[in-house]
Parts: sequence; C-alpha cells; structure tokens
Amino acid sequence: MSFRWKIILGVAAIQAILLVILIWSGLNVLKQSNEEALLKRTDTTAKLFASTAQAAVLATDLAALESFVGEVLSNPGIVYARVLSKQGVLAEGGEKQVLARKFLADTSLASTANDGVFDAYADITVSGEKYGRVEIGFSTTAIQQLISGTRAKSFGLGLLNLVLVGLFSLVLAYYLTRGLNALQQGTKQIAEGDLGYQINVHGRDELAQTALAFNDMSAKLKHLDEERAKKEIEIRLLNQALEQRVIDRTMQLQDANKQLEHQAMHDALTKLPNRALFHDRLRNTLSSAQRSQELFALVGVDLDLFKEINDTLGHHAGDLVLQHVANACNKILRDSDTVARMGGDEFAILLPKVTDMERAVHVAQRVLAAIKEPLQIDDRLVEVGASLGVAMFPQHGEDELALITHSDAAMYEAKRQKLGVVVYLPEMGEGKSEAVALKGELRRAISEGEMVLHFQPKIDINSNSVSGVEALVRWQHPRLGLLYPDTFIGLAELSGLIKPLTQEVLRLAMKQIREWSSRGHAFPIAVNISAVNLQDKGFPETIAAMITEYEVPSHLLELEVTETAIMNEPILAIENIRKLSHIGVQMSIDDFGTGYSSMAYIQKLLVAKIKIDKSFVIDMGTRTNDEVIVRSTIDLAHNLGLKAVAEGVENQASWDKLRELGCDSAQGYFMSKPLSAEKFMEWVQSSPWGGQLATDAKQVSTNT
Ligand code: C2E
Ligand code: CA
Ligand code: CA
Repeated sequence: MSFRWKIILGVAAIQAILLVILIWSGLNVLKQSNEEALLKRTDTTAKLFASTAQAAVLATDLAALESFVGEVLSNPGIVYARVLSKQGVLAEGGEKQVLARKFLADTSLASTANDGVFDAYADITVSGEKYGRVEIGFSTTAIQQLISGTRAKSFGLGLLNLVLVGLFSLVLAYYLTRGLNALQQGTKQIAEGDLGYQINVHGRDELAQTALAFNDMSAKLKHLDEERAKKEIEIRLLNQALEQRVIDRTMQLQDANKQLEHQAMHDALTKLPNRALFHDRLRNTLSSAQRSQELFALVGVDLDLFKEINDTLGHHAGDLVLQHVANACNKILRDSDTVARMGGDEFAILLPKVTDMERAVHVAQRVLAAIKEPLQIDDRLVEVGASLGVAMFPQHGEDELALITHSDAAMYEAKRQKLGVVVYLPEMGEGKSEAVALKGELRRAISEGEMVLHFQPKIDINSNSVSGVEALVRWQHPRLGLLYPDTFIGLAELSGLIKPLTQEVLRLAMKQIREWSSRGHAFPIAVNISAVNLQDKGFPETIAAMITEYEVPSHLLELEVTETAIMNEPILAIENIRKLSHIGVQMSIDDFGTGYSSMAYIQKLLVAKIKIDKSFVIDMGTRTNDEVIVRSTIDLAHNLGLKAVAEGVENQASWDKLRELGCDSAQGYFMSKPLSAEKFMEWVQSSPWGGQLATDAKQVSTNT
C-alpha cells in the first residue's frame, strides 16, 4: 500500500472512531435530557392534576372531574388522563386502546418502548391519608422521533464529515508525499542512468533538505561520470594512437625487412641478384629439373678488358659498364631467367626453360651482341667485350659444382680463343679451367701447410700507432706461386672447404699472436670469416676451444664478417656474433656500405667496429658522393657507440680527410701493404707508425 493511501486511511479511521464516539455520546446526552424533561413534566403535570382534582374527588364531583380530564387532555402530547378513587375510576378520557391497557407506571423512557406511552401517576392525599390518584399517559413518539431524527442527521453529517476528511487527507497526503515521490522518481532516474537529474525543491522542511542533498549528490555523480567519460575517451584515443603507431612501426619494419631482404640478395650497383641469390635459384632449378627431367642451361659471363677500362677511365666508367651489361642482359632475357652479378666483372645467367642446347647458345649470342653495343661514357664511345661459357643440365653436369665449373671452363676457353660464346666440351677437361684445377688441389694445400698469412696494420688515427693487424690469407702454390684469396676463397666456399680453411687461418693467427706477444707485441689480429662459418652453429665453441688450446687472451682475437654474410641467415648470424662477443672476441662488420646498410640489424649486433669498404675510401678525394658515404658511416658508427675503421687508404689526402671526419682507425697501402710476418716486424721497427698502442689503452678505447 502506498504511503499516500496509508495517510488517507489513517486519518479517515481516526476520524471515523472519533465520530462514532461523538455521535454515540451526543445521542445519549440528548436522550437523557429528554428523559429528565419528560419525567419532570409528567411528575409536575400529574401532581398539578392531582391537586386540582383533590377537592372534586373529595366531593365526588364527577362533572368537574370530567372537565379537569378534558383540560388535561388538551395539553399536547397527553394521550389519556384518569382520576381514580379507592372505589374505582371517577373520570377518564383519551385514546380508547390506550385506556384499555393495564396501568403500569414508567420510570424511564426505555420502559415505554413497547407502546410509546409514558405512564405516570400522582396520589391524592389529604393530611397523610390517600383518597385516590390520577393517571396520565404521555406520548413519547415525538421524543423517539426527535432522537432517531437526530441520529439520522448525525450519521449523515458524520458521513459527510468522513468524505470531507477523506478528501482533505487526500490533499494532505498528496502534499506530504509529493516530496517523497519526487525523491523516488529521482532515484529511479539515477538508477536508469540519468545522472545529474534534479528534483524541484519546495520549502525548507526535512524533505526539502533531503531533496537538496539528493540534487547535490546527483550533480556530483554526473560530474564524476563526465570525468570518467572524458578519461575513457582519452584512453581510447591513446589506445588508438598506440595501435596506429604499432601498425605504422610494423609496416615500416615490414618495408625495411623487405628492403633488407632485397638488398641482401641483390647487387647495389646493377640491382641484379647477387651470388647468394643466384646459388639459391640454381639449387631450386636443379631440384625441380631433376624431378621433371627438364633441361636447363647455365651461362658464365666474364667481361674482357674490364680492368683496363677501370684503370684508364676510372671507377665511374667501370660502374657504367657494369650497369650497361646488366641492362643488356635484362633486355634479352625473359622474366623466368636469372642474371646475377657474381662479383667484380663476373656475371652468370640461368636459363631454366630452355628446350635445347642450340636455343641456349642462341640466347647467349644475343646477350653478347647486346653487351657489345657501344656505350657512351663522357665524350667517348666504349665497346665492351665478353666471354660466355654454356653448360647444360644434365648433359654437362648433374650438380651445382659441376655445372658451375664446366660453364667456367667453357668461359675460359671462350676467353682464351676469343670465341665469344663456347659450349662446354668434355675435352676442355677440368684441368683446362684454372679454378677447377685449383679446387682439386685445395684440400691437400690446406692440410700440407701451403696457406700463409700476410698482415696489414690498422693505425689509430689519433695516436698514429698500430691498433691491430688484419690477417689476409695467401696460398703459397708450389707451381703458380703466391695466390691471392680472390682466386680460391670462392672455390673453397663452393666446395665445402671453407671450414678447414678458416680453421687453418685461425690456427696460424693464434700462433702468430702468441709469438708476437712473447716478443712484447701484443697486436690484436683480425681474421676474416665467411658466411659459411657464421652460419655454423658450432663455430663459437670451436673458437672458444682454440682460444683455450693456444692460451691466447680472447681480446687479442678479432673476427671480420661482411654485411652480406650476416644477411644470408641473420638470426643465426646474430646469435653467433653475440656468443662470440660474450667470449670476449671483438667483432667487426667488413666491407660496410657494399651490401645494405641497416641500422636495425647493426643495433642488434654486438659488434665493436664498422669497416668502411675500400671502394668508398679510395676515391674519396675525387668523388664527393663517396666522401658523403664515408662521413655518414663514421657518424653512424659513433651514434651506435662503435668504432669506425677505414680501409683502402692509399694516400696522404685520404688520411687527412679521415682524421678530419673523426674516423678512429685506418688501413691501407699508404701505411703498409699486407706483409709476411717477418716483413711486418721490419715495418714495425722502421715505420713512423710502427709504435704500438698500449694494449690497455686499446681495450679501453674499444670498449667505450
Ligand atoms: P678484405 O677483408 O676487404 O681485405 C682487404 C683487402 O683489401 C685485402 O685484399 C687487402 O690486400 C686489400 N687492401 C688493403 N689495403 C688496400 C689499399 O690501400 N688499396 C687497395 N686497393 N686494396 C687494399 P686481399 O688480401 O686480396 O683479400 C681480398 C679479400 O679476400 C678480403 O677482403 C677478404 O674478404 C678475403 N680474405 C682474405 N683472407 C681471408 C681469410 O683468411 N678467410 C676468408 N674467408 N676470406 C679472406
Ligand atoms: Ca677484412
Ligand atoms: Ca674489407
């Protein structure tokens, strides 16, 4: 039941109880006063009648008594009158059926209820002796009517009163509960989320105070909610910004990775696939051809007189020639073919969809014709010659090495006889190709100690003293004399001999470190390692074992790895470099600038130095572009907390420039060519740079 109805019913109930009591007591009072008046009147009238009739009774004057009775009856409300003597009725008058009743005196109104007549009497006495009496009947109907009329009126009024009280209490209840209802409504609004909802406040009573407090609370809730919503928006915006940044970064990384991947697999100058990618494609083509029994051709390309063009017209011309060759090949070949720059002026072509040998030769001849088209360099027209050797799968070789060496053999034949394009013939033999011949001898040469190391100093530009040496391998060939790494490192890598070769170089280097250390020259020696070593999971352990075996302090061993070697298998390379750095071996990135320059990767590597490739340093004085590259590489190294080493310093100008650019160390013919251990010691004694940077100082300078 609602509060309002409770009030209404409460007030009405109180009112009803009060009314009943009031009416009941009012009626009682009315009845009592009427009764008293009646008793008095009957008593007085009866006594008056008795005294009037006294003389006539004594005289038995019936006529007078008759007239007295008539007189009494003329009074309103008297329904009969009788005068009695001891003997009986003397005179009487009034309504017959009333007179017929037996007289019974009434003492109260209640006793008249059966007939509506109040019977009263008075004795006629003289000197104490009773002579008779008078009897009178009074009608009580009027009184009864008055009382019941009054009762009906009272009930009517009571009812009206109740209705009025009901209406009044309705208004009161409405008035009283209005504030409560408003509060209830407000609470409901807030529960439904309408924060800030305000109640209309009237007056200053407790409810009004509560309503004010409610309004205050509601306003505060709204404020808090708005603050929360604002914060939510801020957080959402922040999240969005963050997400966007993650997306951007991911995309940048993806782009960078794609670029890196591309750069790692391509030659920067000609944009052609490099040796690594070519080998990859060759392997794939080979395995699918083995399955499908299809033919394919491998064509080796070597430019004629490229060195002369380079020497007489400069590196710039050399670069243009290489680009011209790349364009010529691309123009002739189909998308499914691959042309790669294998290094220097050597190219290789893979023709996977070739149907027969004639077709392969035809393509090779067209490529040659395109290469031979004259090329404008500055103000002269240059014609570039080339020799091409063709080997067919499976006819001329069923594996990678056979196909490469046989296309090489054919190419050398073409070069020797100036034939342009030559197809491999078994008569050319393996022996006809110098490379193939050397391959056969390499294993023996390594185990029989034909490998020797030459050493080239690295000079600290600040202190003008030796900060370390690079070990460069040479093959002391019994028949061909001293062979340079370019002629056999590639072979060793291709034929799986690079691991024993590196092992041999490391062994020689460690022996040298010990020997020089014992003579007071603790030069750190840097050894070049190839991609194959870097991808060998056991390589760091091999190094650690050798360091222990030869009892060489690890900081005196340095390893140089090229960017391309790292990118072949970056994850493994990074892992190995990290392990090696932990052993205490110093790592350098070699030939920096020729592969790809990726900050992302260099930052991940725990390398100590970056070696700027000699191709940029050699022409630094004349080619501003090169100077820009050298300068930014030095800055890059320093920004990453690394040392910059420049190689290929051939003159005073380069040295001065490097000092000006803040380069840390320099290496090159200007200071010293690579020398045998003996000659190197002589150089140390005689050269102005021969002094050695204190090992401690060196350690500090490379670690910081
Ligand atoms: P690299 O690591 O870049 O070595 C530097 C090459 O630059 C050496 O050629 C050195 O003789 C040459 N050089 C030094 N100063 C100058 C200069 O001022 N001007 C010019 N034009 N050249 C300079 P080298 O000894 O013929 O070695 C060629 C490459 O063979 C090396 O390049 C290195 O990648 C590789 N190599 C050498 N020894 C080893 C080795 O033990 N193991 C492996 N895997 N590779 C080696
Ligand atoms: Ca090197
Ligand atoms: Ca180098």
